[in-house]
Amino acid sequence: MKKKALLIGMLAAAAVAAAGCQNYEKIQLGGVGAEAGADAGAGLEEAGADAGQGAGTGTDAGQGAGAAAGQGAEAGSAGPGIPQAEVSANEAETTKETAPVMEDRDETVYVNATDLNVRTAPGSGAEVVARLDTGAELRRTGYSDSWSRVIYNGTECYVASQYLTTTKPEVPETAAPAASQTSAGEVGLNPDWTYAGYAKITSGKAMLYRAEGENRKGKVVCVNAGHGTKGGSSVKTQCHPDGTPKVTGGTTGAGATSAVAVSSGMEFSDGTPEAKVTLAMAKVLKEKLLARGFDVLMIREGDDVQLDNVARTVIANNMADCHVALHWDSTTSNKGAFYMSVPNVSSYRSMEPVASHWQEHHALGDSLIAGLKGVGVKIFSDGRMEMDLTQTSYSTVPSIDIELGDKASDHSAATLDTLGNGLADGIELFFQN
Ligand SMILES: [Zn+2]
Repeated sequence: MKKKALLIGMLAAAAVAAAGCQNYEKIQLGGVGAEAGADAGAGLEEAGADAGQGAGTGTDAGQGAGAAAGQGAEAGSAGPGIPQAEVSANEAETTKETAPVMEDRDETVYVNATDLNVRTAPGSGAEVVARLDTGAELRRTGYSDSWSRVIYNGTECYVASQYLTTTKPEVPETAAPAASQTSAGEVGLNPDWTYAGYAKITSGKAMLYRAEGENRKGKVVCVNAGHGTKGGSSVKTQCHPDGTPKVTGGTTGAGATSAVAVSSGMEFSDGTPEAKVTLAMAKVLKEKLLARGFDVLMIREGDDVQLDNVARTVIANNMADCHVALHWDSTTSNKGAFYMSVPNVSSYRSMEPVASHWQEHHALGDSLIAGLKGVGVKIFSDGRMEMDLTQTSYSTVPSIDIELGDKASDHSAATLDTLGNGLADGIELFFQN
């Protein structure tokens, strides 16, 4: 495997910086673009989320608390939880702005941003009819500090004035590569990706491996070895992107709006730390997936990766087609495997990005359980347990925290091999369906 360092994040960040655009009026550079973009959600997108994933560990308890707590922060309003650096002055201005008075203009202007929204009206809630990249040429017929009226495809439209210039900008040579095209190598967190601003521990690198056989599937599976972030339990991240409290218990109780960035994980009955076993499991699964033609994004390949649960999730969102986080639970009953399902709490299931993705999370979870069951792995109850996790709260690709057993479960190499077969079967099943 080549390990050419990619520095995708840096390139993308550089491109954005050069373009001078802020998050509000552009979509992010990763694969997820489609849902970010526009703006309704802009405030939400920025507003931070993060709750610690607590998930995996120690959740035998309470689900479905159903607290339903808060409702989403208003779009566009910067909640207190917002990471400072992520909110630009421009954004605040744009958000407050109301119908501008336009000066007449008749001039050629150029887009100086990537994915600049072209709207039907001068307002960040207006319909987006197109997104233009750096260098696109437009005729401007009206100008205000905030919005410009332009002719796009023969129609009057509006774009944010700050991303237009009257001199043709240089088009950056290195656009951010699409996730599906990037070569193997290190992948860092691109600060421009949606929700990246909610991550607190971000300096680590994931590693992308490309399958090389004839059977290449062109699908990237993010394999996330749970835990293993030094110092992760003394940092807190926001539970939900919109700042609302957790709706179920777990490592962090229901009602909390922030949670440990990465918990340390449990210890098996024989004294082995969970993080060691999740790492061993990840390595086994990686080899099986590559052999089956999947590309694999390994979040962690050593005892420590400086990526918190938000960072891990955002990297998976942008670089993978699904995300599987590996855990064992902290009970001692050898109760079997299950996945953390999305709590049946209406406020939670209607919060983005959960609202748009929870069913695909369940489809992935159900496939994994079917795969495990198929190789004889003991399954707990119906194979799912409701849990409000950081991972789920920020995932925009099918994403599951799977608990492969608990403290009392065998974690020998032979067992991990069997589990790996079941998980790989489940992943294949998911992509077939
Ligand atoms: Zn765990």
